[in-house]
Amino acid sequence: MTVAATEVLIVGAGPTGLVLACDLARRGIRFEIVERADRALPGSRGTGVQPRTQEVFEDLGVLDDMRAAGGPCQLMLSWDGETPLGTWDLVERRAPDPRVPYGEVLMLPQWRTVELLTDRLRALGGRVRYGAELTDLVQDPDGVTARLRHGDGSHTLRAAYAVAADGGRSAHRKAVGVALTGDDVDPSPALVADVAVEGLDRDHWHMWPHAEGGVFLLRPLEGTDLYQLVARFDTARETPDADPEAVRRLIARRTGQPRLRLREVAWASVHQARAALADRFRAGRVFLAGDAAHVHTAAGGQGMNTSVQDAYNLGWKLGRVLRHGADDALLDTYEEERRPVAADVLGISTRIHRSYRRAREDAGAGRGRDLQQLELGYRGGPLSRELRPGLAEDALQAGDRAPDAPCVDRSGAPTRLFEAFRGPHFTLLAFGATALPAPFADGAAVRALRVGRPGQDADLVDVDGHAHQAYAAHGLFLVRPDGYVGLAGADPHSVRDYLR
Ligand SMILES: Cc1cc2nc3c(=O)[nH]c(=O)nc-3n(C[C@H](O)[C@H](O)[C@H](O)COP(=O)(O)OP(=O)(O)OC[C@H]3O[C@@H](n4cnc5c(N)ncnc54)[C@H](O)[C@@H]3O)c2cc1C
Repeated sequence: MTVAATEVLIVGAGPTGLVLACDLARRGIRFEIVERADRALPGSRGTGVQPRTQEVFEDLGVLDDMRAAGGPCQLMLSWDGETPLGTWDLVERRAPDPRVPYGEVLMLPQWRTVELLTDRLRALGGRVRYGAELTDLVQDPDGVTARLRHGDGSHTLRAAYAVAADGGRSAHRKAVGVALTGDDVDPSPALVADVAVEGLDRDHWHMWPHAEGGVFLLRPLEGTDLYQLVARFDTARETPDADPEAVRRLIARRTGQPRLRLREVAWASVHQARAALADRFRAGRVFLAGDAAHVHTAAGGQGMNTSVQDAYNLGWKLGRVLRHGADDALLDTYEEERRPVAADVLGISTRIHRSYRRAREDAGAGRGRDLQQLELGYRGGPLSRELRPGLAEDALQAGDRAPDAPCVDRSGAPTRLFEAFRGPHFTLLAFGATALPAPFADGAAVRALRVGRPGQDADLVDVDGHAHQAYAAHGLFLVRPDGYVGLAGADPHSVRDYLR
């Protein structure tokens, strides 16, 4: 048995673990990411990447590849057997605007998202250790000691912190004694499978809302010749069966279209809709993130997105503590910020799931902005310092997502605020004549930029006025590494205090 040492142990190489690993890699933090499976998990599972998650992926440098691999959400086409009933839109769509560069959900199979994140991690110098399962974890005041089992034996790893990104059944969560509290939202299980079917167009998300035995859906999966099949089952009458012959009979019976031909079942899983939240997201030196911390129903496409946001919230805080001397108490704010958000999102996805059960058809049609996760934030939270009195409720405030805006730089080249934010640093924006603090000793950790109108001496020139409109005519806005306004005010000393 060997003992190795690292700074952060990440357990699980799903979307949560990989996003955290990419973020830590670009911060120069030493980590190990271990995955018990021999390769990335197959299966289309969470196929909707919401606009806020696209912004995170842009910051991590992986969005272009995802957009190339994915596509927009297809229109729903409802059927009654062989009779098409009409199309309708499931999702909210808006054109990109200066504040919001991505206006609608991006669809791609989760295995592809995982593959692209894994490629990005490799480009950043990291790698997943496959076939390594966490079997035991103990912690003490200085760190954690983990036992990892792999093909050629087992070894012990010491780390300053560990992150359980090991999914809804998280053994890691149980090992540190954190309970997951919640309900079975729906007694009926669903069969979810990736299938090759001939005889159906690939331009729509096909739905048989009143199929005999339960609702039935087939959605074309981007970059493949497969569809994601979802079938709900009333277990009093039948149970889900992923055997290809059973799936062939299921397709024929639920669609009433004998011309549809099943060629292949590439992957299948039985999904029981649950909604549950971990009682704590931190237990000493162990953090729970993603499905290990909250389990959503698939309705509304929130699980993977909430998971990615957890990792994005935690990454920079671990970086500040491990590299910039921040107090360990900063890490308490992970739970303080993310648990209420996860609870809110759980409420939304559970409501949508229940409305589907009642109405069965277009209950979620035109589902709103709350699913896009753009309006989630940390107002009033432990890291939000709003120093301007008497603001209107709809004004941009500390804790809100920091909006994008097009600008030009000193050379006259077009750029965007999101370009300025990109990377592991804080960004301080100074509008109007507001004084900037003296240069920071730790200059790489804070990027200070003056935003001006045309003709003013500024690092970023707000040619069309969008930045001033989104923020304010004057004042300081300290944008956190995860893209939220940490502090808003006018006093340069307050920025120093905040960073301390
Ligand atoms: C049918 C279905 C449909 C869904 N649809 C959507 C959707 O439309 N939109 C959406 O946002 N979300 C959706 N989700 C949810 C989404 O798939 C999850 O939220 C997401 O996978 C969570 O990512 P994660 O990284 O936290 O966990 P996971 O993806 O579960 O990854 C956990 C990883 O940890 C590994 N692991 C577990 N234990 C150990 C151990 N002891 N040692 C080492 N490794 C370990 C596992 O092998 C796994 O690879 C859906 C889920 C399902 C099942």
